Amino acid sequence: NRQLVLAQRPKGEPTKDTLKLVEAAIPSAGADHMLLQTEFLSLDPYMRGRMSDAPSYAAPVEIGDVMVGGTVAQVVTSKVEGFAPGDWVLSFNGWQDYALSDGSGVTNLGKSPAHPSWALGIMGMPGFTAWAGLTRIGAPLPGETIAVAAATGPVGATVGQIGKLLGCRVVGIAGGAEKCAYAVNELGFDACIDHKADDFAEQLAKASPDGIDVYFENVGGKVLDAVIPLLNPNARMPVCGLVSQYNATKLPDGPDRMNWLMGQILRKKIKVQGFIIFDDFGHLYPEFAKEMSAWIEGGKIKYREEIIDGLENAPDAFIGLLKGENFGKRVIRVGQN
Ligand code: NDP
Repeated sequence: NRQLVLAQRPKGEPTKDTLKLVEAAIPSAGADHMLLQTEFLSLDPYMRGRMSDAPSYAAPVEIGDVMVGGTVAQVVTSKVEGFAPGDWVLSFNGWQDYALSDGSGVTNLGKSPAHPSWALGIMGMPGFTAWAGLTRIGAPLPGETIAVAAATGPVGATVGQIGKLLGCRVVGIAGGAEKCAYAVNELGFDACIDHKADDFAEQLAKASPDGIDVYFENVGGKVLDAVIPLLNPNARMPVCGLVSQYNATKLPDGPDRMNWLMGQILRKKIKVQGFIIFDDFGHLYPEFAKEMSAWIEGGKIKYREEIIDGLENAPDAFIGLLKGENFGKRVIRVGQN
């Protein structure tokens, strides 16, 4: 049983010393438990937070513990009602080949799901985050303008495509020309601006001639700086993530702009609301799943995955994810299926 355990807490960017690959015995399932074999491991930006012991909404991974993570697995042996050998499941095995489970928090995906790994993306946590954050907090009206960064990732790509289905103008922000072309040509965004361009803020303003009504906040940093002056009165800002800051060790240089920001929020009457998807919207998952399945079946929502083989490659793939090296939802294929 190969396991990636947290060896040390990163200061800034995680390095090759952050996680350590160790070998343990394959556990055997006792009463009321099942043995799960990991097939796919999801890589998600929130994992950077779990490597840190700074106060957060969830407990950190302890040093020496297996790194946490959402997985799609197959049942090997089972003494848990409702789960039989060969079933595919959505589980939380973490970064390892095998894990035991008593079935809590595990979803049975059946014997032969069409796209098992999608349970980690468009049909799972990231897709649900996009849907709930946009529709329940952003609440866009037809004709309004939505801006979203990390526009080709699983959350951003879904936000933008749902925005189009709701009749909005959608402006994406992504890293590089290739991602931007994909957002416009494949995902149907009205525009997509490269945040690495020198004149990024000017380009964003030009692409948003009627201002921005919903800014779905995924990244923070200079994207947020460029968006704030463009926000319209009564704009909404679902605060989903701040990935540009996850490796930061200090606040950015320059004058403290907290009071300027609060002034903007006050004068433009902007609604800013953070959310943690399953804490705040878990009860809406069935509604999301029904709507998203219909959209996918109807060809209305596209989904791009980037599958990387081998558990041993997960640390590098995760370090790259935080830097935008991924193009689509990054998943590690751990098993052979
Ligand atoms: P992605 O797969 O899109 O990966 C993160 C992306 O962020 C990178 O690919 C990169 O895209 C972009 N990025 C990285 N650094 C910067 C930077 N300095 N400036 C601008 N963009 C940057 O991630 P997800 O779709 O899985 O997640 C998107 C956000 O949603 C994250 O902040 C995540 O933490 C958050 N989230 C929050 C949840 C909640 O419950 N609140 C649940 C799920 C996700 P590019 O190359 O295009 O810049």
